[in-house]
Amino acid sequence: MAVKRLTLNFPPQLIDQPITYRLARDYDLVVNILRARVTPLEEGRLVVEITGKKKNLDAGLNFLKEIGLEVKPLAQDIRWRKERCIECTACTSICPTGALSLSRPEMHVAFLEEKCIACELCIAACPYRAMEIVF
Ligand code: SF4
Ligand code: SF4
Repeated sequence: MAVKRLTLNFPPQLIDQPITYRLARDYDLVVNILRARVTPLEEGRLVVEITGKKKNLDAGLNFLKEIGLEVKPLAQDIRWRKERCIECTACTSICPTGALSLSRPEMHVAFLEEKCIACELCIAACPYRAMEIVF
């Protein structure tokens, strides 16, 4: 089994398409929606974890690209600007996955992008704009 965490950006004309249903029915993939943001008639953004056989996963992702979705690896979405971070720890307690963590006893903040689900909680929490979302 292969697992991919991805960001799917929907153009307005695809907002109402049953994308996750098609991936399950036609490609035997399990789609776990980690986060969704949809603006009616404008655009949509899903953060998903997709699980399935590798060849089905590849075929399913090709299908998404062919119909016009922008498919990006999740890791590209959230960026830690380390040079701006003063290690105030405002973000480490609210990060739901431990992607932002505090090492003890050194008390250093670290960002592990493979754990990040792009929930964006840290963006608002950081007073120094050290966490950025990349569109
Ligand atoms: S976006 Fe969410 S999961 Fe990712 S580092 Fe920020 S708080 Fe943690
Ligand atoms: S809230 Fe911002 S400045 Fe504070 S530790 Fe997190 S990333 Fe660094």
